[in-house]
Amino acid sequence: MTEKHLTLSEVRELDKKYYMNTFGDRTPLCFVSGSGIELTASDGRVYKDFFAGIAVSSLGHNYPRLTKELSEQVSSLIHTSSVYYVENQARLAEALVKNSAADRVFFCSTGAEANEGAIKLAKKYQVEKGEHNRIEFVTLKSSFHGRTLATVAATGQEKYQKPYLPLIEKFVHVEPNDVEALTRAVSDKTAGIMIELIQGESGVHPLDAEFVKEAERLCRAHDIAFIVDEVQTGVGRTGKLFAYEHYGVSPDIFTAAKGLGGGVPIGAICANEKFASAFHPGDHGTTFGGNPLSTRAGLVVIDELINNGVMDNAARSGAYLFEKLNDLKKRCPMIGDIRGLCLMCGVEFKEPVAAEVGARLRENGVLVGVVGSSVLRITPPLIVSKEDIDVLITEIEKAVSSPAR
Ligand SMILES: *Cc1c(COP(=O)(O)O)cnc(C)c1O
Repeated sequence: MTEKHLTLSEVRELDKKYYMNTFGDRTPLCFVSGSGIELTASDGRVYKDFFAGIAVSSLGHNYPRLTKELSEQVSSLIHTSSVYYVENQARLAEALVKNSAADRVFFCSTGAEANEGAIKLAKKYQVEKGEHNRIEFVTLKSSFHGRTLATVAATGQEKYQKPYLPLIEKFVHVEPNDVEALTRAVSDKTAGIMIELIQGESGVHPLDAEFVKEAERLCRAHDIAFIVDEVQTGVGRTGKLFAYEHYGVSPDIFTAAKGLGGGVPIGAICANEKFASAFHPGDHGTTFGGNPLSTRAGLVVIDELINNGVMDNAARSGAYLFEKLNDLKKRCPMIGDIRGLCLMCGVEFKEPVAAEVGARLRENGVLVGVVGSSVLRITPPLIVSKEDIDVLITEIEKAVSSPAR
């Protein structure tokens, strides 16, 4: 490679001086290239990436077909706006509809934006019916729905809301898996229930199937939107295209983002016809959403997942990951709960050692995520192999077993 990169400490200095301090001291690494599940840092060291940029790089790094098609797209056209028809946008909408519970799709650029759009659509559906007082949404404690003001209000974690109180939107938070509380929270003011099927950001907590079914039933009974936030669980991460398929439910509205573009920013609001038809021309919009580049990325990701075996690989590797972690748990008394589904996995330790274990893994060339003080998050690219997982398991065992420093 002929590019000349800044050193890590040079980048750090620029960041400290010019970037808003929302991330504090970051993990002291800066990557310059990647290939498959590997990332190369600016000092030349190679790491195995079991976090995929927070569950985003679904095809890993520098996936040959994605690189080729995106390069072609960049050389022909990046942006035209939705003032005009966009071929890739229409084709990706078709691909999502043909493979999901949705009848129509709208593309935006991030997960939070998709969730805001879902909230607007659910409200609009009630307005169309003349039910103007249905302005509340029921969401769950310890949920995460994004960082815009409405999605921060939807998020059921105080730490994300506190700096911005009072929030103007009305979201009622109930305890996950508490059917009674959920039933009580739904009133003649409610426009929808929004849930993640596996709460990712708060430590990988799957919801009970019974609770999810009851949420769907309540929505149907009250004619309000059953919204599933699939920003993290969607696009093959759980071994199916969307996680709601595991639960035997059919959301009115669901959102996708993270893995959909294989690293290129794209979000999607997906809805059945009944709800989708509440949006009329002018009701919603976007400048960047659904542009030729991001929707080309989405087309490659969906095609690779469904027609080229990547989702089957995710299902196989995910099952193998859980099998190996459960074996490891028998050898490592420090390991408590192992939660999640397929390639969305949380490993909870019985003591607050997650940061230390994460740092040791990193020293040995393995990248994972850390939530709170005691949970490791494992969300590798969907192309991860069993051999990669063997390396991960060996390294976790080493990191957990070595004496405290
Ligand atoms: C990451 C995430 C979001 C926010 O997505 P952004 O692209 O960061 O706006 C929303 N919901 C869930 C479940 C997420 O995991």
